[in-house]
Amino acid sequence: MMINGYTRTCGVFGNPVEHTMSPAIHNTIAEDMGFNMVYVPFHVPTGHIKEAVEGAFALNLLGCNVTVPYKSDVIPHLKEIDGLAEKIGAVNTLVRLENGFKGYNTDMPGLYRAMQEDGVEVRDRAVIILGAGGVARAVAMLLAEYGASKVYILNRTFEKAEAIASEVNGLYGKNVVTAMTLADHQNLTGEGYLCIQATNVGMYPDVDSAVIEDESFYRKLEVGYDLVYRPGKTKFMTLTETYGGKAFNGLKMLLWQGVIAYELWTETKVTDAQAQKAFQAMKTAMGL
Ligand code: NAP
Repeated sequence: MMINGYTRTCGVFGNPVEHTMSPAIHNTIAEDMGFNMVYVPFHVPTGHIKEAVEGAFALNLLGCNVTVPYKSDVIPHLKEIDGLAEKIGAVNTLVRLENGFKGYNTDMPGLYRAMQEDGVEVRDRAVIILGAGGVARAVAMLLAEYGASKVYILNRTFEKAEAIASEVNGLYGKNVVTAMTLADHQNLTGEGYLCIQATNVGMYPDVDSAVIEDESFYRKLEVGYDLVYRPGKTKFMTLTETYGGKAFNGLKMLLWQGVIAYELWTETKVTDAQAQKAFQAMKTAMGL
């Protein structure tokens, strides 16, 4: 990569940000397209997200990603916000306008694209979400948006699942999400569920755990989609496969949220071959 006076800069704001895989995605695609751009991590100290957004605009950055813990805190500092990001209440992508940045959420379209690629259908389907954190909330919103017939959200802290259910049901004007505790999985009487694992459990270095370990639960799953991507095969995925289901990790979601952000910044279309190159670069950067 040749950096010169015309090089455009993009990056990711986070804290911590040192573990990010995003440079591998964006720099690989930019290089393949012959686009003079560099993507770098920006460690934003606590309490400085406003200055980071204003500074990025003043320094003519083309666009930015935003990661933990700033996905909600960044919103008051934007000029505009996309409708889906507003519903989700989290922004992970800033796109430059004339007078400031517009915020988007590409995490959820990224997850949807990944599921489509993996042949996982959402419409008219009963779906289980494990967890009720920031990502689970966004997933519940996505499932309501894309027509899941029913969403069961199971969490260790019941009140958090309940808050998400009432918010999503209110927003979509239908009783689509039901809150449950993790132990309530025994009351799920159907079969062939899609289950989206959105807790931290099983994530490196805690690789020998799954948030539910009961065999009877996994027998009810047709697909187990873990949003964790480190390790590449989590215990949740192994249990899903052991009892006959198909299992996927969160790597493709990570890839597609990046590809969609890149397309927004550059107003280009990333080809499948370029996305595959970026996927390989991510895997290499992770030692997979
Ligand atoms: P978060 O807001 O901190 O929520 C964490 C969730 O995990 C909560 O529901 C929490 O339950 C649950 N949890 C944590 N430890 C637990 C334990 N020991 N037993 C039972 N439940 C436990 O996190 P988040 O931002 O939503 O992220 C969730 C996951 O998504 C992370 O693993 C992250 O790596 C993954 N993720 C993947 C991508 C991707 O591109 N693939 C992008 C973003 C995030 P309580 O409410 O009871 O505390």
